[in-house]
Amino acid sequence: MAFRAVKGMNDILPDEVQRWQQVEAVFRETVRLYGYSEVRTPIVEPTSLFVRSIGENTDVVDKEMYTFERHDDSLTLRPEGTAGAVRAYVERTVYAKEPVSRWYYLGPMFRAERPQRGRYRQFYQAGCEVYGDKGPNSDAEMISMLVGFFHQLGIDGLEVMINSLGGTDTRKRYHEALKEYFRPHAESLSAHAQGRLEVNPLRILDSKDPKDQEISRGAPSILNVMDAPDREHFEALCSNLQALGTPFRIDGRLVRGLDYYTRTLFEISSTAGELGTQNALVGGGRYDNLVHELGGPQVPAIGFALGIERLLLAIAQQPVSASPVCFFAPLGNPAAQRSLILARDLRQQGFVAEVDGRGGSLKSLLRRADAIGARCAVVIGDSELANDSAILKDLTRHTQESVTLSALSDAIRKLLTESNTLSPGELI
Ligand code: AMP
Repeated sequence: MAFRAVKGMNDILPDEVQRWQQVEAVFRETVRLYGYSEVRTPIVEPTSLFVRSIGENTDVVDKEMYTFERHDDSLTLRPEGTAGAVRAYVERTVYAKEPVSRWYYLGPMFRAERPQRGRYRQFYQAGCEVYGDKGPNSDAEMISMLVGFFHQLGIDGLEVMINSLGGTDTRKRYHEALKEYFRPHAESLSAHAQGRLEVNPLRILDSKDPKDQEISRGAPSILNVMDAPDREHFEALCSNLQALGTPFRIDGRLVRGLDYYTRTLFEISSTAGELGTQNALVGGGRYDNLVHELGGPQVPAIGFALGIERLLLAIAQQPVSASPVCFFAPLGNPAAQRSLILARDLRQQGFVAEVDGRGGSLKSLLRRADAIGARCAVVIGDSELANDSAILKDLTRHTQESVTLSALSDAIRKLLTESNTLSPGELI
């Protein structure tokens, strides 16, 4: 019986991984310049951590978590990165050691959603968290950092949407306003939304059901019930974004699927590449109460998570450039041994070398050199060995020359560096 990967979980084979690594490298470099350091937390956490932070009555907790029992504990494959990061921040009392922490992470997340283009059951997120800064300056800086990152990757057609969910008081008032608005429409709402009406009416705004969406269009905006401090925070965010030259749109009904958000909320989508309907690249927001709710002191925080698969769909048309390769095509054993030594020496100088150890005809060896896009090929047979030389083929110019073994290394290096002048900015 042939095995298949779990539905919605993808293999990423080596020829694709190269693009992943390039995007990840640009991400790491971008966030490094803003002072973030990487954190690595476990992929499995106690189920209760996610229930407590993401919230009951959210789609993620209700129906999308991969949960299992082990040694009498209920464990869950992380559906997102913030809960685990905050758990670590509190458990390791990081707040007592530094007033501000800037963390980033990168890794797989798991949600049992209906798979489609841009939506998978195992997917990768890169994210940042800032602890100890109540904003709104850090909020604007984070959003504009993301826009700069997307531009660097050549992604255009960007739309930045922002909203505020307010603090506790504003949120309470907004819940009441929403309940009042939705109650007369209760019978026209989906069964799912009806169940949410009294417990978590914000979720109705996030519903994917067309009927719910239609009714939600008339719902009051939170911006009309915000208290003065929340309003000031939001207005300062807008003014900072303007100052940074980051275009944005205010969407008073943007809520997003997780419960822990307070005040600033944002989402960036793009019409670029092959994204299709799943065009949200990144979502984030402030979660000023989460550190406290998970057992720490009252430390304000903000974070975002972006989907790597969606980034790759957005830049689907971009060419990839790889390091040039020197390919060795030895004919016979003594030549192979010589090739192993020459290739090892090249690698020690930082060049990529591949020795084809299969044997066989020169034609079939060179076919492989072409297939991997090698920059040059070194052919060594008995007659070359007899006079201490090799044939060096320039596979771009389609020329070749006989080179003595003592001069070979220099000649190869010259060819490889000639085409190895890409600067980091040209990588993508
Ligand atoms: P969220 O954690 O739901 O706020 O999502 C943040 C970002 O992660 C989204 O904008 C997507 O880019 C990505 N994302 C979320 N869920 C999935 C999924 N099931 N498959 C692929 N990417 C996802």
